[in-house]
Amino acid sequence: MGTILIKGSTVIDGTGTPGVVTDILIKNDLISAIGNFSANQADVVLDGAGMITTPGFIDVNTDSDHYLSLFTDPAQQDFLLQGVTTIVGGQCGSSLAPLIKGTLESIRKWGDINLVNVNWHTMEELLWTLQTLSPGVNFATLVGHSTVRRGILGEEIRDLNESEVQLSSSIVRQAIEEGAIGVSTGLAYNHSRGTPFAEIKMLASIAARFNGVYGTHLRDETENVEQSVTETIAIAKETGVPTIISHFRPIIGFEKQFTAALELIRATDAPIYFDAYPFDYSIVPIYTLLPQWAQQGSLEKMQELIKDTGQEVELKKEFAKIQGDQVVIARAPGFDYSIGKTLTEYAATQEVDAQQGLLNLMRYTRLKAVVFRKNINYSMVVDALMGEKALVASNSPSLLENRNVIENERASKTFSKFLNICMERGLKLEWAINKITAKPAKILNFKDRGILKEGMVADLAVLQPLLLPHSKQGGFQPVHVIVGGELAVRDGIFQGVRNGKVLRRT
Ligand SMILES: [Zn+2]
Repeated sequence: MGTILIKGSTVIDGTGTPGVVTDILIKNDLISAIGNFSANQADVVLDGAGMITTPGFIDVNTDSDHYLSLFTDPAQQDFLLQGVTTIVGGQCGSSLAPLIKGTLESIRKWGDINLVNVNWHTMEELLWTLQTLSPGVNFATLVGHSTVRRGILGEEIRDLNESEVQLSSSIVRQAIEEGAIGVSTGLAYNHSRGTPFAEIKMLASIAARFNGVYGTHLRDETENVEQSVTETIAIAKETGVPTIISHFRPIIGFEKQFTAALELIRATDAPIYFDAYPFDYSIVPIYTLLPQWAQQGSLEKMQELIKDTGQEVELKKEFAKIQGDQVVIARAPGFDYSIGKTLTEYAATQEVDAQQGLLNLMRYTRLKAVVFRKNINYSMVVDALMGEKALVASNSPSLLENRNVIENERASKTFSKFLNICMERGLKLEWAINKITAKPAKILNFKDRGILKEGMVADLAVLQPLLLPHSKQGGFQPVHVIVGGELAVRDGIFQGVRNGKVLRRT
């Protein structure tokens, strides 16, 4: 490591104050000084004239652990190239640790768990393992409630008894003590749907006690989203834990319910936020397209159910509610030729209707496919993102080198798109930068990141303002990205430098 000097860029420090033109001197992994420095004071000098330097962006909800892309693509280039220097995983109830039985069942709905040699059990061991992979970005994780619950119950779906509740709380507590930055639930998923309020509250209060956060994938994002949000606000209020609702999104057909739920979040003084992305599609495990009555029991039970010809008529009747051209196949283990096709196109290759096509795909992949579903009201989600309770997240893995999944704009463009939208709407750049740097750093309790000032870790993005084609509105292209004082991206090109740190609760 040496010294880097960024000369003469406009520095927007993340706190929300307007930018000033100045130099930044980076020594080892820290921002050493801000002021006026001559070029001979540094090993590397970057000409920042006309550019904007900000803290590196923080993506509060990613899936790089769920899809195991931290292992298959540790550089995490999709994130780096858009200026993201820190990502958070362990969301939606599922984390890579602790593994009571040593297996990754709770993430198999997303990833191929055979890709990875699991040589850890505890959170401590996982964080150590991840650091040895030298990730390109910093990574922090929550501890997943479903992971812990399934470690105790296996494939059984039932309430925990008194001693199991105690056990799960001590496991969660230990994981947080070992470095997890909070706890998450995935209450819409099969194994966690029935979790009682008291159990969630107990886990959230552990997170609160250790200055952690609580992230939650709501029980219901459609008809009963208001009820789910009310429950979540109660958790935040009663425990005081900073709470982030994951991928909060107006599902088409349920906009009224979404608006009412959003109003509840705006109105409350509880410490509650949500993350969202400016795109119109969800990325979901294919089993979630089954009707509720069919999403009962273990994956094996669901695999049996879809094979049962006696259920075909009923299932296809429910599938008729799904528009085949609004579903794109993103991952289909063993059937890679189908990746990128809409359900309608896929069905056509088999000369069947979309309903039969969907059932076939579920059967062939044994419910292990993942699909993009265009089911989000775009203008509404963008409006919601502009609110003060909103954080920006891709809710996506970096997949640049992972060729068995289709490319996904949410991984590569979430932050540049967010900034462009802010500019189109005439919002202040310093406000937009605050929302993706200092604000999430404060909520997540990252004490030495998120603000560009002396003594902080040198995670930085240097942005080139551009004019968008056919418009007078500007956008931003990350030119240089610095992670922990090392140039990971220079002139828009990844340098092969992987200097991310695994972040632990402080
Ligand atoms: Zn989720």
